[in-house]
Amino acid sequence: MNTWGDFENVQPIVAKMLENSIKKNRISHAYLFQGPKGTGKKESSFLLAKSFFCKYLEGFNPCNECRDCKRIESGNHPDVHPIQPDGQSIKKEQITHLQKEFTYTGMESNQKVYIIEHADTMTANAANQLLKFLEEPKRSTMAILLTENGQSILNTIRSRCQTMSFKALNTKQLESRLVASGISEPISKFSAALTNDFEEAERISQDDWFAKGRTIVIKLIQVLMEGNDEAFLFLHNDWLPHFKDKDQSQIGLDLLLIWYRDYVSYLIERKDTIIYIDEKEKFEKYTFSLSRDQATKALKKILEAKNKLKANVNPTLVMEELVLQIQR
Ligand SMILES: [Zn+2]
Repeated sequence: MNTWGDFENVQPIVAKMLENSIKKNRISHAYLFQGPKGTGKKESSFLLAKSFFCKYLEGFNPCNECRDCKRIESGNHPDVHPIQPDGQSIKKEQITHLQKEFTYTGMESNQKVYIIEHADTMTANAANQLLKFLEEPKRSTMAILLTENGQSILNTIRSRCQTMSFKALNTKQLESRLVASGISEPISKFSAALTNDFEEAERISQDDWFAKGRTIVIKLIQVLMEGNDEAFLFLHNDWLPHFKDKDQSQIGLDLLLIWYRDYVSYLIERKDTIIYIDEKEKFEKYTFSLSRDQATKALKKILEAKNKLKANVNPTLVMEELVLQIQR
């Protein structure tokens, strides 16, 4: 996430607030970024640090080219200190160590930024130590506290920070985040449809098993559409060896479900919601042979199959039955 524009797609409200502070040169000396996992807290803390240090701001965007920007990006800036829990908690020594560092002037400027991850895990002693620090803010210092459990942050600390509440991502925002991190659009759409957790979506995007599963689903549809007896063979040779147990079968059925849902969206001109965007040509081809009613019936049968799996019916039986039901 290199620009505030990228960040606006993910957290529009927080982005606007921070952009305004940068524009007006009123960056706070302490922020609390709170919100669920995978909502962009850490990335935006780095973005804010870049805007704090970069001497070549373009509007409020860091240039991403200068030495400060590059070193923050790679986690090697001498005056940007990330702190993570040491084991289960952030300990007092970690905060005192940080403060000692801060008594020396900045390595290259007078500015310093510290980013405390999982700030809710600070021990009471660590929190008290930090409090002293927050009580006497220096103009050139910025603290960014990150937490998934905002309610666990002591009020004394919270009251000295400007709180930014990060919202859980909707599917579109998750997609934008994945695309911004370099994942292709078809795969981003596909991963965002399967989970609302960014890290999990990122994992799915890079996972060969999912990529292959997606190909198998597309192939099964093709075989089903050809309407010959190959479907059973394909099921046993390709589908079942890949989607092995109950959990994997559920994922396979989800992928199949998304395909049929996309097809119906295509027919009713809701093309913006389509996940299998690289299948549009085939959707067009199938309009002659697969009616909306048939596709809707297939959707219903897939949902029934998912329920049967939940009720512990054997996956092979469930899939054999399903293929018979939705074959042309
Ligand atoms: Zn820069």
